[in-house]
Amino acid sequence: MEECIFCKIINGDFGTEFIYEDELFVAFNDINAQAPIHFLIVPKKHTTSLIKTEDGLILNKMLETVNKVCKIKNIDDFRVVINNGTISGQEVMHLHVHVLSGRELNWPPG
Ligand code: 5GP
Ligand code: ZN
Repeated sequence: MEECIFCKIINGDFGTEFIYEDELFVAFNDINAQAPIHFLIVPKKHTTSLIKTEDGLILNKMLETVNKVCKIKNIDDFRVVINNGTISGQEVMHLHVHVLSGRELNWPPG
């Protein structure tokens, strides 16, 4: 997926610092953080969105990875967001989960 910005990040093209990496996922801080802690957990394998992802195992492992990274970082009060589709706010068409923490998070999110 040459055009995909997250594929390029995963490939190391921009020198983005990974706060976590394993064989299936990377995590890095969001460039436009909406909270003091705001990072993304991104599968290395490109799929465009949650609804388009047929691989249930990767979805399972993505949440497991949230669990793991938050434990490593001692974050136990956080919000997880997955935008699916442009109207929902999805800008990057590569599956990812946002993890937000470090401030009171209003509900519903604006
Ligand atoms: P979405 O709106 O698709 O759910 O989330 C995409 C997120 O990726 C946005 O919050 C945006 O700030 C972040 N983002 C877009 N481009 C880059 C980038 O080049 N580097 C980093 N670190 N984050 C990015
Ligand atoms: Zn991609």
